[in-house]
Amino acid sequence: MLADIHIDNLLSIAGPKGATLDASVIAPHLREWRNKFEGQTSLMLMPSDTTTAAKLITYCHEHHIPVVPQGGNTGLVGGGIPGLDGRSEVLFSTRRMTDHCIVNAEDFSITASAGSTVAALQAAASERGLLFPLSLASEGSCTVGGVVSTNAGGIHVLRYGTTRALTLGVEAVLPTGAVVDELTALRKNNTGYNLSQLLVGAEGTLGIVTKATFKLYPQEIQKHTCFLAVESPQKALALMASARRATGDRVSAFELIPRMGLDFVLQHIPGTSDPLGGSYPWYVLTEIATSKPDNALEAEVLSWLEAELAAGTILDGAVASSLQQAQDFWKLRESMSEAQKLEGGSIKHDIAVPVSRVPAFLERATSAVQNFNPDARLVAFGHLGDGNIHFNVMQPSGSDKAAFLASWEEMSTLVHDIVMEFGGSISAEHGIGTLKKDELSRLKSASQLAAMKAIKAALDPHNIMNPGCLFT
Ligand code: FAD
Repeated sequence: MLADIHIDNLLSIAGPKGATLDASVIAPHLREWRNKFEGQTSLMLMPSDTTTAAKLITYCHEHHIPVVPQGGNTGLVGGGIPGLDGRSEVLFSTRRMTDHCIVNAEDFSITASAGSTVAALQAAASERGLLFPLSLASEGSCTVGGVVSTNAGGIHVLRYGTTRALTLGVEAVLPTGAVVDELTALRKNNTGYNLSQLLVGAEGTLGIVTKATFKLYPQEIQKHTCFLAVESPQKALALMASARRATGDRVSAFELIPRMGLDFVLQHIPGTSDPLGGSYPWYVLTEIATSKPDNALEAEVLSWLEAELAAGTILDGAVASSLQQAQDFWKLRESMSEAQKLEGGSIKHDIAVPVSRVPAFLERATSAVQNFNPDARLVAFGHLGDGNIHFNVMQPSGSDKAAFLASWEEMSTLVHDIVMEFGGSISAEHGIGTLKKDELSRLKSASQLAAMKAIKAALDPHNIMNPGCLFT
C-alpha cells in the first residue's frame, strides 16, 4: 500500500482535478475489454499538462513509487493495468491530456496531446483535406500516448507504415521527471540516438509520452472497397501482389477473413449481412485508393478484377457502390473481435511472419493446434498485407470456457515456437504487456534482452515506470 504521506503529497502536486481516490471513478480503468486482467490501486493521477506530469513523476522517482501509464485502456495485454500480481502501483491516466491538436498543412504534420484519440486526429486532419492514416477498430478510444507506446498498426500499414513510421517526434516525461521535447516536423535529423523512436513501442517502461507529432498524407478521395472470395490464403497472397502491380501500388488495405470468422459476425453482430451469395472458405477485404479526383483508378481496379475473375483467383466478389456499402463491408471486418468474444473463450495470438510465408505458417500452425485439441475452432484473420495474423484458437462448441482457457500457456508455446521457426514475431501489434513477458524472455536472444535491460536501467534507475510490463 502507498503510504498516506505520499498520497497526500501527490494529490497536492496534482491539484484539484489532477488525481482521484474515488474507487468508482478508478474501477473502469482496472479491467480490460477482454476481462482477462483485473488490477487494483487506490490512486489515479490524471494531470492535464506536461508540467504537472513532470512534477508528479519527479516525486515518484524520488520516492521510488511505481507508476503505470494508461491511455484508452484498449491494449489487451495487461500493459496499462496497475496492481497486477499483487504489485502496489499508482495509475497514471492521460484522459485529461487532450487540449493540444494542431495540424500543419504545409509540413503535412499533426501534433497532439497524449490523451487525444486516434479518431480525433483523423477528424482534425480530414477537416484540412489531409489523412492521418492510422486506422484500427479501437480508434474511438485508443490514444496518441497508447498508439505510440505500443507502435500500433491497423489496416493501413501496408501503404503508410506502423505508428513508428508515422512518428516524427514526441514530447515525454522520462522516469526521472526530466522532460524531453522532440516535437518536430523535421523529416531528417541525424544527430545521434533517436529518443522519440526509443519511446515508440516502449509500452510505458521508459516514460510518459505527453505529446507526439505525426506525418499526414493527402486525403484519399477516391476509394474502391472490394469484398472478394478466394479459395485459400495462397490465392489471397497472389491477389494482393497482382492488385499492387495493377493499380500502381495504391492498395491501402488488404485483410484476410476466414468463413468461420464471418459466420460469427453474421450470427452475433446486428445489422450485418453476407455481401456474397454462396459460402466460400476465405475472403479478402481490400481498399484501393487515391488522392486524385479523376476516374483513372476505377478503370484499373475493374480491369484487375475482371482478369482475376477470369483466371479463377477470385471466386466471387462485390465492389461497394456507395459509402454505406463500403462501411458495411468494413463492419464485418471490424466486428470480428467482438463477435468472437460473444461466441466464447479464445486463446489469441497476435503474430507476424514474412508476408510470403503466411500461407505455410497457417497450414503448419493449424495442423499443430488440431493435433493438440482436435475440437478447437480456428479463426485466423488479419492484416495479410503486413503478414500480421490474429491466430485465434476458440473453445470447442459447448465446452467449458475456463477449462479451455486453462490451456492458454501450453497452446501459446506451441504456436509461438512455430512463429519463431518462420522467422516471425510473437507480437505484431498489441505489445508484450504482462501477458507475453515470459514468452519474450524465452524467445528473445540473450544479447537483445541484455541491451533492452541496460537501456531500461539507464533511463529508469529506480525501475518505477511500468515495472510489471515487458520484463520478467
Ligand atoms: P492503453 O491500452 O491504455 O495502453 C497500452 C500500453 O501503452 C500500456 O503499456 C500503457 O502503459 C502504455 N501507455 C499508454 N499511454 C501511454 C503514455 N501516454 N505514455 C507512456 N505509455 C503509455 N492494435 C493495433 O496495433 N492494431 C489493431 O488493428 C488493433 N485493433 C484493436 C481492436 C480492438 C477491438 C481493440 C480493443 C484493440 C485493438 N488494438 C489494435 C490494440 C490497441 O487498440 C492498441 O494497442 C492501442 O495502441 C492502445 O492504445 P490505448 O490508448 O488504449 O493504450
